Amino acid sequence: MNINSINTWLPATSEPLIIAGPCGAESLEQLINTAKNLKETNKISLFRAGVWKPRTRPNSFEGKGEEALKWLSEIKKEFNFKTTVEVANAQHTELALNYGVDVLWIGARTTVNPFSVQEIADVLKGTNIPVMVKNPIHADLQLWIGAIERINNSGITKIAAIHRGFYTYGKTKYRNKPLWQIPIELRTLFPELPIICDPSHISGNKELIPSVAQKALDLGMDGLMIESHFNPDSALSDAEQQLTPHQLNSLVSKLVIRKQNSSDNDVAINLSELRNIIDEIDEELITVLKKRTHIINEIGAYKKKHQITIFQLERWQEILRTRAQLAEKLGISRSHIEKIYQVLHEESIRIQNDIMNK
Ligand code: PEP
Ligand code: MN
Repeated sequence: MNINSINTWLPATSEPLIIAGPCGAESLEQLINTAKNLKETNKISLFRAGVWKPRTRPNSFEGKGEEALKWLSEIKKEFNFKTTVEVANAQHTELALNYGVDVLWIGARTTVNPFSVQEIADVLKGTNIPVMVKNPIHADLQLWIGAIERINNSGITKIAAIHRGFYTYGKTKYRNKPLWQIPIELRTLFPELPIICDPSHISGNKELIPSVAQKALDLGMDGLMIESHFNPDSALSDAEQQLTPHQLNSLVSKLVIRKQNSSDNDVAINLSELRNIIDEIDEELITVLKKRTHIINEIGAYKKKHQITIFQLERWQEILRTRAQLAEKLGISRSHIEKIYQVLHEESIRIQNDIMNK
């Protein structure tokens, strides 16, 4: 792919490169209040605001559309900010171009649809306006690459990918799981493609944003997109994950920027990749322990019903012996596994005791 380095089209006001602004443009006043406070931080390179909001359910705030594009052009003039909005179809794209938006982004719900991406790409022919492409909602790297290629095939060389995490079914601590190995693979395949991380949509809450932001930098990502609202509690969308400009400023000041020379970067990437694997293994481990606990509960109830004692020496000796043997066979420490089983057995007895005494 023929891609320009990001500092040729979006030079960083300060390190790291920060894109910030509210989830949605709600009113001129909201934009002015937010932009004014963000300007004072001196850390923002691009002001974001959604003017068409793709909402999961109807009857939510769906953005102010063209009216908000007028507000954004005022923000651009008054605060000398470059602006970016999300476009999801040809009409959005034409309007955004007409109102002088500086950078476009394609949202996660649009990246999943090659028809929509293609119609946007067709409108963009001959413009070379910068475009940022968010990853699709689900973990499909090829679909992400496909959308980037469609834009690139229209002659756009100012492109960045935005990593905003992936939807997974079931509860996790993230709103969208980061699955760091996917942007890492993207980087491996297209080293020249800038990747921005969006910790707001990954986290879904304020608390996780700092650690996600730091991890993105440690992985060598090129910048951060963070949602910021002058009064997050009153936000009409994504209220939980927006920081005040002041909070954003202090978060960014605390980020550690590691050296960018390639050997250091490789070390950071490798280490982070390994830690990521450990995180996933631990998640699996705890999920499996949960299943084990579930069965212990069933056994406890069954023993109670049939008046069988909780502790059975032979069964316990058998567990200890077979698990230690397996450990030895797999080449991990026998005594380590014995210790873990002592703890598991103790917990199993405690659970069954509770059941008996109910
Ligand atoms: C957004 O940036 O506000 C947005 C809608 O993001 P995403 O497409 O990542 O859900
Ligand atoms: Mn949002």
